[in-house]
Amino acid sequence: MKDESLQYLHGVGPKRAAVLASLGIHTIHDLFYYFPRNYLDRSHVTKIKDLRRLLFTDHDITVVGKVVAMDTVRGRGGSARFVLVLNDETGSLDCVFFGGIQWFQKMFRVGEVLAVSGRPAMYGGRIQFVHPEFDRLSLDEEEEGEVDWSNALNTGAIIPQYRSTEGARRVRLDSRGLRRIIKRALGEKLHVIDETLSKSILEKHELVDARHALRSIHFPQGWNDLDRARRRLKFDELFYLQLLLAYRKREVKLEQQGVSFVVKSKLARQLVDSLPFELTKAQKKVIREIASDMSSPRPMNRLLQGDVGSGKTIVALIAMLIAIENGYQTAFMAPTEILSEQHFHTLRSFLKAIPVNVRLLIGGQRQRLRKDILEDVKRGSAQLVVGTHALIQEQVTFDQLGLVVIDEQHRFGVLQRAVLREKALKSSLRPVHPDVLVMTATPIPRSLAMTVYGDLDVSIINEMPEHRKPIRTILRFDSQREEVYEFVRQEVAKGRQVYIVYPLIEESEKLDLQAATKNFQRLRDEIFSDLDIELIHGRMSPDAKDEIMSDFKLGKINILVATTVIEVGIDVPNATVMVIENAERFGLAQLHQLRGRVGRGSEQSYCILVAKEKILSAALARPPSSEAAFAEEVERKKAEARLKTILKTIDGFKIAEVDLKLRGPGEFFGTKQSGLPELQIANITTDGEILSVARKEAFHLVADDPQLRRKENQSVRKHFLERYKNQLALVKTG
Ligand code: ADP
Ligand code: MG
Repeated sequence: MKDESLQYLHGVGPKRAAVLASLGIHTIHDLFYYFPRNYLDRSHVTKIKDLRRLLFTDHDITVVGKVVAMDTVRGRGGSARFVLVLNDETGSLDCVFFGGIQWFQKMFRVGEVLAVSGRPAMYGGRIQFVHPEFDRLSLDEEEEGEVDWSNALNTGAIIPQYRSTEGARRVRLDSRGLRRIIKRALGEKLHVIDETLSKSILEKHELVDARHALRSIHFPQGWNDLDRARRRLKFDELFYLQLLLAYRKREVKLEQQGVSFVVKSKLARQLVDSLPFELTKAQKKVIREIASDMSSPRPMNRLLQGDVGSGKTIVALIAMLIAIENGYQTAFMAPTEILSEQHFHTLRSFLKAIPVNVRLLIGGQRQRLRKDILEDVKRGSAQLVVGTHALIQEQVTFDQLGLVVIDEQHRFGVLQRAVLREKALKSSLRPVHPDVLVMTATPIPRSLAMTVYGDLDVSIINEMPEHRKPIRTILRFDSQREEVYEFVRQEVAKGRQVYIVYPLIEESEKLDLQAATKNFQRLRDEIFSDLDIELIHGRMSPDAKDEIMSDFKLGKINILVATTVIEVGIDVPNATVMVIENAERFGLAQLHQLRGRVGRGSEQSYCILVAKEKILSAALARPPSSEAAFAEEVERKKAEARLKTILKTIDGFKIAEVDLKLRGPGEFFGTKQSGLPELQIANITTDGEILSVARKEAFHLVADDPQLRRKENQSVRKHFLERYKNQLALVKTG
């Protein structure tokens, strides 16, 4: 590699090099790819007197002015803020900072000229910017001559802003310091950057070359130039991401020999004939797709997607019966113990008249039982093994595992899928590349599906079983709880069953559990003392959980109070009411999943969200006066958006789109553990178009020149091998 150590860059000694390393910048290359987090637009400067008319704009506004005063102001309750007063010839503006006060105090000087950029707000009759971006226009001596600021006030310039840290600031690597170093590096070292895309792709998609893009992402010649640079770099990033996926898919498809199952199955026929319902058209269609994969000698790698309640389990069971009839074992992995237990019971009852040995393997089982199961699995007499992560533990050996099913795939990472697949390759009798079917109820926006599941074939169940009535979703506030209880009572009187769910998040697990337990006791002893009511949560032993779930399923329990352990997969058709307490604390996907626990039978079902009143209160009358208040307001807005969405629609796809927007792709289930590189500049939510073009090119390239031998593909080959080494390793296992 041509990468040169940063230390030899003028202005970077060992000390700064160490600090840069802590920002993830180890080489010149890294430095170029340390993209600005924002830009300060000095090409449009607004006069202070005009800000009052711009109070509700949705974009940042830049003002240039002289610092005339600055002070640290103590508010009531001891909170402090740093206020900087800027004047231009038309008026006066307050810039307010709540955090990093000490640093800001040292940062500025009265008399200097700043460009600041932010959104204007009114506070106490004065116009202000809270935590604006800023840039110094009059320079101290150290900097003079290094960056050309001549005509700083008159030229239209777009100034990059960089992410920095406390430690970096100590060695003067704040945003401006970084800017100086990057500017210099671009001047001296841009030649270390090689083109990463082929000429034909650059031409076809009208992309600027790599060096141009890097220069312009840092120091654009205007907004159009910046857009071009962005588009090129986003394309680059998404292209290589898709190239990884294309290889992952190809690895499974082409190079591995799988099992050719005989798909005509007496057992499956027998099962379908015994069902109390007719399979939906959509179920039949996906079964055909799966069967066709299974009969092919290539290993299946398929995602089965279908909204909650669409009937995926039975589809999986049919696939499993095919494998079993061919003499293979199958593994069915689910993310929680409760769900595994439920699957175990459901599958066994579906198989009542069909001789298949089903076993359950989860943590916390007694030693003797566990030993017996493991032996059964190893011997091959356990034909269908249901379980949690316990299935992928080292001690588990199969005799001849041929089909792997993973339920609620979004709860697992790509590695877990890989490990389960490996189990088949290590089967003691017949090691094979197994067929893999992963299922998810969480609908995935198309753009995300192209990345997280980009190496899978996709089958979709786009139809619900008949006779289901759409669930009614209702919002109630804390003060209306009595009314909710009354409704619960009425439903129970009709013979239906009810879930009441309390939030439990990891960070406050103990407190949440205490609260849920206390609420349960009150419900049991005071509100519903005449009814059968039980509590279930994740901390209980598997046996205790199983007993309660069985009793609930049998109708022996009227009301099941639960923490979110029942969120995924649970199927009790007689349950018609889902009450979600503190609904504002739940994520959208969670709310949708929880709601999906009802509406599974033919009766009208209800999902009642109970929320704090203030969640939907009018927006605050004046701007929040501290950073914490700001953060709180943002959270409140998000909670409001979640509740409104869940009230408005039962369409899982729409819900997923909103969820993706609210949470951002990084946090959105599974992307982080997908084994794919983190995106730096592209955004899956908003760059869908570039994504699908890049995907097409990447998949085309792999089909066309899989070894990347052609001359025109050498730049891609070199870059791919150099930069994506780690992720390429996963291709083998993914
Ligand atoms: P999910 O796709 O959410 O995993 P399940 O597989 O748990 O859904 O199915 C939900 C419920 O619908 C189960 O009780 C199942 O037996 C039932 N079911 C599945 N397919 C049909 C169908 N074609 N008609 C009626 N009920 C069905
Ligand atoms: Mg399910």
